[in-house]
Amino acid sequence: MPSTPLHILPSSTVYLLAYRYLHGIAFYLATLLIDIEPALHAIFDIPPLKIPMLLGGHTMMGAHTITHNPLGIIILIAPAMTVLAKLLERGKPFWLKIFKGADWTDYPWKRTYLSALIGGFLHLGWDVTMHEGINLGFPFIYTPNPLRSEAAFYFLGIFSLLLILPSYIIGKKINKGSPFRKLP
Ligand SMILES: [Zn+2]
Repeated sequence: MPSTPLHILPSSTVYLLAYRYLHGIAFYLATLLIDIEPALHAIFDIPPLKIPMLLGGHTMMGAHTITHNPLGIIILIAPAMTVLAKLLERGKPFWLKIFKGADWTDYPWKRTYLSALIGGFLHLGWDVTMHEGINLGFPFIYTPNPLRSEAAFYFLGIFSLLLILPSYIIGKKINKGSPFRKLP
């Protein structure tokens, strides 16, 4: 959970490169709010729970069990963030008043969902290097997380940080307008 704000780094390298094609709110909401599960675990101090898997075996239900796996992102995080982003879009006049001169793009639902999906998978892609409790086979089978690696964690973090500026420069050529003046 303390690593949540750091996820801005890898996400922003992708966003700055392709901001015209991504629903920014859905993308960043998925990147950050996927950590609601570990946050709830920390707040309520929930003890790990042994639960059966659909195809046999058990998994320990911990802070990352439900949301931090491909199926959790596809059927839970991305749809929820798509709906939340679409609800926030309803405040368009309000947002345009706060962010004066912003250029507004209307994204269809499919593109909004795809943006949330990419945000969620970017988060998972870095989190698998950090947390032992991630079960990529949830809820079907238990697979111990094989990708945990401190070296990979630091590599991805530093690599993302170094890529921010090149992404911005290349992204400005690929996309129209500015990533900082674009909504949503
Ligand atoms: Zn996470």
